[in-house]
Amino acid sequence: RNISPFLDPGPGTKANSLAILQLSRDNLQPVYLQPATGKHDGYAEGAVVNTRYGSFPHSTMLNVPWGSQIRASKVDTGSRGRKRKREGVDDACRDATGATEKDNEDSAALANDDSATAVKQAVADTSGFIHVLPPTPELWTTSLPHRTQVVYTPDYSYILHRIRARPGSTLIEAGAGSGSFTHASVRAVYNGYPAEGQRKGKVFSFEFHEQRYHKMKEELSDHGLDRLVQLSHRDVYNGGFLVDGKSPEADAVFLDLPAPWEALHHLSRRKPQTLPANSNGAATANQQTEWVSPLNPKKSTHLCTFSPCIEQVTRTVSAMRRLGWVDIDVVEIANRKLHTSRERVGLNLNFDRGVNNSPRDVEEALTRLAEIETRFREHAAKPGDGDEGMDLSDEDATPAAKNKAAGNGSQAPSTEDTSSGTAPWMEGRLITRGEPEIKTHTSYLVFAVLPMEWTEEDEAAAAAKYPIGK
Ligand code: SAM
Repeated sequence: RNISPFLDPGPGTKANSLAILQLSRDNLQPVYLQPATGKHDGYAEGAVVNTRYGSFPHSTMLNVPWGSQIRASKVDTGSRGRKRKREGVDDACRDATGATEKDNEDSAALANDDSATAVKQAVADTSGFIHVLPPTPELWTTSLPHRTQVVYTPDYSYILHRIRARPGSTLIEAGAGSGSFTHASVRAVYNGYPAEGQRKGKVFSFEFHEQRYHKMKEELSDHGLDRLVQLSHRDVYNGGFLVDGKSPEADAVFLDLPAPWEALHHLSRRKPQTLPANSNGAATANQQTEWVSPLNPKKSTHLCTFSPCIEQVTRTVSAMRRLGWVDIDVVEIANRKLHTSRERVGLNLNFDRGVNNSPRDVEEALTRLAEIETRFREHAAKPGDGDEGMDLSDEDATPAAKNKAAGNGSQAPSTEDTSSGTAPWMEGRLITRGEPEIKTHTSYLVFAVLPMEWTEEDEAAAAAKYPIGK
């Protein structure tokens, strides 16, 4: 059975499957890895990802464990390869590293005549690397092609927790937008292969913008999520949330719409007595026929709406009150990310001519890089006690152990005493900074609950289960 890589990525990369390439910490690129066909675009390497860190043929990223580091190809590929082909340069002219004279000229030209940049480019081309990561909703949120504002991880993790999305839940979402929330919600409700009587978990998603609807449809199918997410092309203000006239029986609802109060009258258990102001008295499809609620009659419904302005919140809360929603609660997520790093005392590659310990010229930079590499190798070869990589900052660590883990103290920069046995990557002072730019747009989250209707049968069943006085 084919499970989406978002739900079960398996041990490693596969051909024709999605992988997320991490170029740098916040630079992620989604790629469908193509099988090595022997020839692609006229090149034996097959499809290639060209980055500022070098060229990465898909063939080098296939069938490797997730998280693998992939080194840049030593073989010239991609745009420069195509250029070379146009110019009729024969592959046989390559030297042992795979570079031709033409490549080296290209490399220098690319570097804008700035010798420092030229060396950086050359170093990147030969020693760059990336990591190949499995698709997850979090990585997809960071790397997806944005077609709208999206809901970011700090918000959706809190929302999914508050609306009680759990394996087996049925969730309604509108609008689907770029699908960021959709991917997180489908993982939350996915229930594997449930035993009889248990629910599978499903997301019913709605989007009225035609192109976005088609793009989302395509992505859901590519990601193997189309059986778990049923996407409808619909204006939910007028059309409501039934699918093929039937109730999705939703346990939870998330509305990321400009006017959530215009959709709320559809999320009722009974035909609402008062129609919303926007309907102009015209009956919607659902109001002309017998009223069918899109909500699960056997459970209370948990709802969240996501709105950037407080005026929208006021109108939403007002509609919620009139329609019988309770436990109404407004929350704003203020996420603050802290970035901790070690102040490098090794090599500052700014090439500002000797200032701040930077190398004076390219030759000095390369010599220092070689020294650092030798020290890394020597340290790796030494038998260790196994705790070199640990950050012992908790109460249990002894002062000596803490000092060792912090690279001779977290207050003062360590001096370069390589004979002390300090691992090169543990040198330098630890610095923590708040990140200036946070990837989440300020919005208000309105939560509310619509209690289940307690019927005579429910009362009788409860009385039978818990007889009074016994
Ligand atoms: N939550 C989405 C995400 O995480 O990627 C982003 C949603 S985006 C901010 C809002 C979406 O609602 C837009 O794509 C818009 O086309 C859609 N929309 C607006 N009004 C709608 C309506 N009446 N019915 C259905 N979709 C609607």
